[in-house]
Amino acid sequence: MIAKVITDISLDREFDYLVPPELSDSVRIGSAVTVPFGRSTRSGYVLALAENSSYDAAKLKALAGISPDRPAISENLIKLGKWIAEYYCATQEHAIRTLLPAAVRSGRVREKKLKLYSVADPAAADKYILENRENSRLAKRVKVLQLLLRKGEAVKAELATETDFSVSAFDALVKSGMISMREELPPDEFEQVDALPDTPLAPTPGQQKALEQISTMLEGKAASHVQLLYGTTNSGKTEVYLQAISKVLAAGRSAIVLVPEISLTPQTVRRFRARFGSKLSVLHSRLSDRERFDEWNRINSGKVQIAIGARSALFAPFNNLGLIVVDEEHDSSYKQSESPRYHARDVAVVRGKLENALVILGSATPSAESLHNARQGKFLLARMADQVDNKPAPVIRIVDRRLDPPPEPGMSNLLSPILIHAVEERLERAEQAILFLNRRGYARTLCCPQCGYEARCPECSINYNYTYSRSRELLSCHLCGGIAPAPQVCPDCGFQEIRYFGSGTEKLESCARGIFPGARIGRMDSDMMRSAEDYEVVLDKFRRGKLDILVGTQMIAKGLHFPGVTLVGVINADLGLSMPDFRAQERTFQMLTQVAGRAGRGEKRGEVIFQTTRDSEVIRFAADLDFDGFSQFDLEFREMLNYPPFSRLIAIFFKGENESAVADFAASFAEKLECYRHDRIRITPPAPAPVEKIKNQYRYMMIVRGTGLKTIREAIRILALHSNPPNGVTVAVDVDAQHLM
Ligand code: ADP
Ligand code: ZN
Repeated sequence: MIAKVITDISLDREFDYLVPPELSDSVRIGSAVTVPFGRSTRSGYVLALAENSSYDAAKLKALAGISPDRPAISENLIKLGKWIAEYYCATQEHAIRTLLPAAVRSGRVREKKLKLYSVADPAAADKYILENRENSRLAKRVKVLQLLLRKGEAVKAELATETDFSVSAFDALVKSGMISMREELPPDEFEQVDALPDTPLAPTPGQQKALEQISTMLEGKAASHVQLLYGTTNSGKTEVYLQAISKVLAAGRSAIVLVPEISLTPQTVRRFRARFGSKLSVLHSRLSDRERFDEWNRINSGKVQIAIGARSALFAPFNNLGLIVVDEEHDSSYKQSESPRYHARDVAVVRGKLENALVILGSATPSAESLHNARQGKFLLARMADQVDNKPAPVIRIVDRRLDPPPEPGMSNLLSPILIHAVEERLERAEQAILFLNRRGYARTLCCPQCGYEARCPECSINYNYTYSRSRELLSCHLCGGIAPAPQVCPDCGFQEIRYFGSGTEKLESCARGIFPGARIGRMDSDMMRSAEDYEVVLDKFRRGKLDILVGTQMIAKGLHFPGVTLVGVINADLGLSMPDFRAQERTFQMLTQVAGRAGRGEKRGEVIFQTTRDSEVIRFAADLDFDGFSQFDLEFREMLNYPPFSRLIAIFFKGENESAVADFAASFAEKLECYRHDRIRITPPAPAPVEKIKNQYRYMMIVRGTGLKTIREAIRILALHSNPPNGVTVAVDVDAQHLM
């Protein structure tokens, strides 16, 4: 017998080995094996078993053995890994690697305490970066500091995956005290969640229908194994998940629940824990290697029946999977940004098919892709339009800023008189308000009105990429995290009155302090939140009513529950609409719906104000809470332009320091694809990407879209993985890309 083995080095190639007689009973698909490789031995996994090899069997080497400390992968997961590698144009090694947590893959478990690193003194670090950023000897240290400033607090393994990370520079910075380390027992907040047992609630009519559909699916009598549970916020989707899981457990099978990382809160976990107690394994990002290893083994050995977690929980090694729930299925965090660039919702549908399991995709604002699949009959639709508690929806108003009187000289123009008045009312009544602006910093950019100079990050080229932070007296780049001193006069012409244009949350905060002098104001954005603690401190203050107004970016849009908030003001509701991306409308609608949902979660009815400077149907649909109207409108727009979900789309990115090498390679790549083009495929030839340059790397993008892409996708995969680009050029393929920047 021949075993086809993938080793841990990235060659995207299987190697054939003879299975020696003493192993023939124990080797199967998915076995972790060791193999002779050149003069050394390597570890790998068996992807397939075959009778024959296309190589000369006499020359084949034999498997060295089965690895004692690395577990085997189930055959279904191996199949899933192969599918991921093929469909997402990734190497087989990358795909197999995503199936297993690192600790399990290596068979080594490190000690239990987490070592968390952070910049000891951010102000000193800013100064260090400014002083040494031209110093090539210290370039690596500068990059490491910038990386860590951006991350806040992180474990080393997390930093090591970033391209800017240098171990030696990092160690030197730790030694010199610029980076500090603290040890922490991994949080067990999820373990301690008080598990007051609860029992299923009597379903509402909408829940009843959804659950009946699930029963039909379980009996194998339905036309699809996927249910799209389209239910308004508070319609009781979670209760449907809970009861569906109970059905599956009763049949002796297991379940996986995927949630966006940001919603994996103790609140959510508590509800599952209360219903299922110790049957549940919680896979969150801060587990130590040891805990991850333990959880994985608990699942693998059948000690727990349910796993809840973000994207990667999809690969939980259950042997008898009956159900996968994908909550907030529209959330963009389900798409992985590194290879393999898989979409967990789509892979969930595939795993469900492979394992003969059901899939429930739940959302209050389903993705265009899922709605389309439901219309086509590929998914079953369950609609829950009514809220369980019949709480009145917030009152949403659109304020057109073009109709406002001009601001008094010297006064900021960020808040309209209507919004100011609404905030004042809240302050008088001791209620809370949220002011939302999806851009951090003080001003968007720095310009010279005399000569037209614009401050730009020298390593990244996109207009207005520098954000001015007044508290740090710095310009910082939102693409690479690089910083520079903020000039006091124009560096080109010396003009004294250099100006700042556009506004971010820092400016918004300072304006609000000016307009509402007595109010207690807090701010949440990635500039402020340099560590997880900062985040908790502000949230906690706000939750306990110690703040009146919370200013923030999208960090505050999702999932947070503050019963005291009765007003949400969105400063620029139209901000995202001009992005050069066909999903801009969808993202704007989802974002507006999410922030609006922060108002009126307590006793009192909420009010929401969308400020805008343009007429937009998207904003009107959001203000009317009319998701059906919006999705109709958005789907028509996409159909007209033949964008997904009416076609499939593959984005191919080319990067490198030498622009002409990138352009040439991209052009030759495109040319090799020509022969695979047919009349339902459109190819946008390679051109500089909307973000042309990041960290001194030029970026080119080409887009292949249409239907019947299978053959061309296979060609793209081979070309991307097996053609040798010239020095320094890299290719990244993003199938079903979510961002075209
Ligand atoms: P969603 O997930 O759709 O936002 P939830 O499942 O969180 O909705 O339900 C909203 C609220 O209604 C929760 O407090 C939940 O406990 C309650 N609830 C859900 N279903 C029922 C039911 N059948 N009877 C009574 N209360 C319910
Ligand atoms: Zn930059």
